[in-house]
Amino acid sequence: MKIKTVTPFAVRYPEPNDNDNIRYLTFCKIETEDGTIGWGEAISQFAESTKATAALIDGMGRQVVGRNALENVAIWRAIKGASWWYGWHGGVASLALSAIDIALWDLKGKLLGIPLIELLGGAYNRRLAVIASTHVWRSSLEEEAERHGRYVRDEGYLGVKIGMGKSGGTRIGYEFDRDVQFVRLVRDAIGPNAMLMMDRGQSLRWTVSDAIRRTNAFEECGLTWMEEPLEPNETEAFKRLRQHAKCLIATGEREWDARGYREFIDSGVADVIGCDVGRAEGITGALKVIELVEDRNLWFNSHAWSSAVNTAASIALSGFTSRCLVQELKPDRNPMQHDLIDEPFKQVGGYIEMPTRPGLGVEVREPVLREYAF
Ligand SMILES: [Mg+2]
Repeated sequence: MKIKTVTPFAVRYPEPNDNDNIRYLTFCKIETEDGTIGWGEAISQFAESTKATAALIDGMGRQVVGRNALENVAIWRAIKGASWWYGWHGGVASLALSAIDIALWDLKGKLLGIPLIELLGGAYNRRLAVIASTHVWRSSLEEEAERHGRYVRDEGYLGVKIGMGKSGGTRIGYEFDRDVQFVRLVRDAIGPNAMLMMDRGQSLRWTVSDAIRRTNAFEECGLTWMEEPLEPNETEAFKRLRQHAKCLIATGEREWDARGYREFIDSGVADVIGCDVGRAEGITGALKVIELVEDRNLWFNSHAWSSAVNTAASIALSGFTSRCLVQELKPDRNPMQHDLIDEPFKQVGGYIEMPTRPGLGVEVREPVLREYAF
């Protein structure tokens, strides 16, 4: 079945799980001559990178139109090969390739009438443990701890992951005593058995001493993992931290491709390898990362913090690999998850099942993309 059109959609939307801050995504719609449609997404994040990603999808699309839609990996190789001039070792070209690749896998599943998890070769886990993944922004530590308590206690999530250093008045990650006080409050609120992940994020910087001190203090509150405590290139600092840490250390979501992942995995800096399918060259790229992770008995963690298209692909990848601990979902209602598709993803009793409909298993509502068009 021949591909007829490749169309980018750039969107700008407020994210309630991040203090309503504006975020940007670039979607890709690929349609075959018989009218079958596949959807992909790139987590392009900023206005300028979103414009660039949309332009690249448009340009790369010229290599895709007219090709057989079932030859998705061959198309991935052709685009990657041709974009070396502006995409060597990652960057915006990888974002555009990600959106096209996810759309091609979705399209293939729809043309063949089978869900993505079966296209990949079958589920290792048909059911994934789910944690609520948000940022904190309110000034009251008690209120923020209680919000996270509700996710576990009232909504059934099996744990929480909290982004530090974000906008608003919480300002976690800056003052040691306050940080420890907050993590204690969160542990009290979520109870003794829930998983607890803390994510330094990218808005603040820690020295290796800051990272060790906080990791050890948070461990006293039952920390499951510490995420991105240091910058990705601080290999020696990561090694020092790991000598002092009892919890898992997570990082990786800023890598672009298998080459980058291989390099940093080989440096032995982390136990949990973050990977965004909307950034790391799509499903085809993420499968290469999974091979590296499985080879070394590490853990794969899909960074699924954008749209339901990304979440659908991420859930399938998490279920496919034998090395996934949890799936993250944004707990508060948000337009790119709950309005965008016909049946939004939700956990039941702390777990989520593999989608069973063909392709990604979601029906994208194009009017929602037009409503948030950028
Ligand atoms: Mg993170």
